[in-house]
Amino acid sequence: MRVSGTVIADSSTVIEDGCVLIEGETIRTVGDRERLAEQYPDHRELTTDIVMPGIVGGHIHSVQSLGRGIAEDCELFDWLFDYILPMEATLTADEMAAAARLGYLELIETGTTTAIDHLSVAHADRAFEAAGEMGLRGLLGKVLMDRRSPDGLLEATADALAESERLIQKYHGSFGDRIRYAVTPRFAVSCTEACLRGCRELADSYDGVRIHTHASENRSEIDTVEADTGMGNIHWLDEVGLTGEDVVLAHCVWTDDSERELLAETGTHVTHCPSSNMKLASGVAPVVDYLDRGINVALGNDGPPCNNTLDPFTEMKQASTLQKVDQLDPTIADAETIFEMATTGGAKAAGFDRLGKLKAGWRADVIGLSTETTRATPLYDPLSHLVYGARGEDVELTIVDGEVLMEDGEVIVADADAIRDEANDIADSLDLEEARENAQRLKP
Ligand SMILES: [Zn+2]
Repeated sequence: MRVSGTVIADSSTVIEDGCVLIEGETIRTVGDRERLAEQYPDHRELTTDIVMPGIVGGHIHSVQSLGRGIAEDCELFDWLFDYILPMEATLTADEMAAAARLGYLELIETGTTTAIDHLSVAHADRAFEAAGEMGLRGLLGKVLMDRRSPDGLLEATADALAESERLIQKYHGSFGDRIRYAVTPRFAVSCTEACLRGCRELADSYDGVRIHTHASENRSEIDTVEADTGMGNIHWLDEVGLTGEDVVLAHCVWTDDSERELLAETGTHVTHCPSSNMKLASGVAPVVDYLDRGINVALGNDGPPCNNTLDPFTEMKQASTLQKVDQLDPTIADAETIFEMATTGGAKAAGFDRLGKLKAGWRADVIGLSTETTRATPLYDPLSHLVYGARGEDVELTIVDGEVLMEDGEVIVADADAIRDEANDIADSLDLEEARENAQRLKP
């Protein structure tokens, strides 16, 4: 297959009238369109305006997609205990599957090809199946919650770990190794020390299994952890084994100097979620400082209830402009830096090698965008357009491992209308009252 257009192979390589030649699951070569057309005339050609690496969503909650719009304009712990936990506790297995499909549909439609996905406590199988069937690449994990958690989500420590292990054995490396596992404790507030230490032990028992959790998103959260443990949150996570090159921490908004040093020393990955941090007024993550310290930073949309979209292009723009206004310096968090966070930064966090650039021998995860829009006119610099001007709806082609998931804006791997209809039907009948009463009593 030949994918032709202006090729943005990585943050510093633009090939006008270029082509990405894909054979099987791999990029064979990247180069001049005419030359490759002559050399490989029998390969089918797909034409688009901008060709770029598929985006890696560094922190996503696909199964929260049914909660888009249910928890507007509130503080994190209210958001979580009044709305999100009750919703997660209420959804049946079929509803969880529908929620996951809705999330993955939006990812495919808007150009995310790999998702580091924080599922829920129950029915995780259904999300794994949905991601695999729809062809996404992902690092997925069932959530562990063994304290301060409402009925329907609270599990005994041993049960939570045993269920995680069952899922690792079933899904880690599944669907042609597109799907891998991350042990996913929700956050230190709702996990005991035994649970967190157990997560490390479990991850160490299986090659390539990683750890993904929330950390230091909000001041109430770090205060709660400090009251519980007498330690700063990142120091606590380090104490129980949840730092390191196989660990992805979402948010890290509230960290002190010693904690940042610890993140750098241990090679822990941070996922920045600017839209979520702004909407929940969590704060501004010190992203530029993290990058200066050599910490790998990925970019994530978080979940639809706090964003309200999984569009990775709006997220790139928010990531850049938030740092600029926070530091009162328009030269920082430039387009190249943000593009790297959304591609190679995410790939490193997710632990897939040969991912995040269009390069010979690398995985064929490729997207194509249309620039036949007013907002792309004129188009002096395609890379800065991707970060500051493009939107997810511009994506018209999505390819994972050489498999076309969406072509000409039409999703091939699923019935998009049926997924949206099903989600609307479930939303119409969702009743959270009982679960809400249950959850609210536990709010820290
Ligand atoms: Zn999250």
